[in-house]
Amino acid sequence: MASTIKKHNFSAGPAILPQSVLKEASQAVKNFNGIGLSILEISHRSPEFDAVIKEAESLVREIAGIDDSYAVLFLTGGASSQFYMTPMNLLGEDETAAYIDTGTWSSKAIKEAKNFGDIDIIASSKDRNYSYIPKRFKKPQDAAYLHITSNNTISGTQFHKFPDVGAPLICDMSSDIFSRPIDVSKFGMIYAGAQKNLGPSGVTLVILKKELVGRSGRVLPTMLNYQTHIDKGSMFNTPPTYPIYVLMLTLRWIKGKGGLEAIEKMNKSKARLLYKEIDSNPCFTGTVDKKDRSLMNVCFLPTKDEYAAPFLDMCTKAGISGVKGHRSVGGFRASIYNAMPRRSVKVLVDLMQEFAAKHG
Ligand SMILES: *Cc1c(COP(=O)(O)O)cnc(C)c1O
Repeated sequence: MASTIKKHNFSAGPAILPQSVLKEASQAVKNFNGIGLSILEISHRSPEFDAVIKEAESLVREIAGIDDSYAVLFLTGGASSQFYMTPMNLLGEDETAAYIDTGTWSSKAIKEAKNFGDIDIIASSKDRNYSYIPKRFKKPQDAAYLHITSNNTISGTQFHKFPDVGAPLICDMSSDIFSRPIDVSKFGMIYAGAQKNLGPSGVTLVILKKELVGRSGRVLPTMLNYQTHIDKGSMFNTPPTYPIYVLMLTLRWIKGKGGLEAIEKMNKSKARLLYKEIDSNPCFTGTVDKKDRSLMNVCFLPTKDEYAAPFLDMCTKAGISGVKGHRSVGGFRASIYNAMPRRSVKVLVDLMQEFAAKHG
């Protein structure tokens, strides 16, 4: 089978996966590792699956340099379930947690956390429709933790430097996890739905400083208690076996590319190519403060409203999929996650030039 891409997939999520991962994952559905059974029909307690989840965990640890003081968990319920699991587990009823509000996903995290303690929003970029990352914030008093969203998938902003307020940093990294090197020791917890940069939907990666668990003093449902999943190695109940398998393949791919430094280099090169076009093309304009631009989700607007429909039409004809912007920003959004090849970004850039030659 040729490994040619049928379409250029700029979807925000679930999103593009490496072709080699798709190929191996589809083979495993038919016959996993030659055992005569599908990956979909074997027990999560089987030695075959045990090897998969163990390799997934050890690859996460290796790729991000994570030591034993952190648990690496594979949970269900999406990143959205971490919006409430975090405060349930880590925030006492009469404690305060600090949050930085940088868009839709942080707002959702804040809404959930308010049910479990006092929430102090120490900075927000809502005043300019989340088009920047706040640089100044008030220092929280005795916060149990500070929660941020490292990459704002919808508005296209990204923290390029992480805030330090002296409280454990908890980070929703759903849309930029493993897109650049990270110093995990600076975080109390990192979580990410897999479907942007790590695999298919259905599994959420949680990296958690073990000593933070149990501090809320709350009685929790077994499934919503991090300690349960730490004790059982993410196997208290049936984990999402196939998503974990595909995530493991994607981690192998990241490692094979040379790890996070090499991945970051590719991501920077792709983003530079596209932002350079946005900044020089008379038909398009960026939506985000330049220093806060996301390397993953590139948002841009047409300089005239009447450009929008014909450009999207041209994209469709060129096999470019998923570039229509989120309704809250409008215009276009090109998501260029790890697995997006530079040549697909080049196709988009060439098309923008062709569009400008016709309309600009
Ligand atoms: C997609 C996304 C989410 C939601 O993830 P689910 O797995 O659908 O719950 C949360 N945060 C960010 C930053 C996202 O990009």
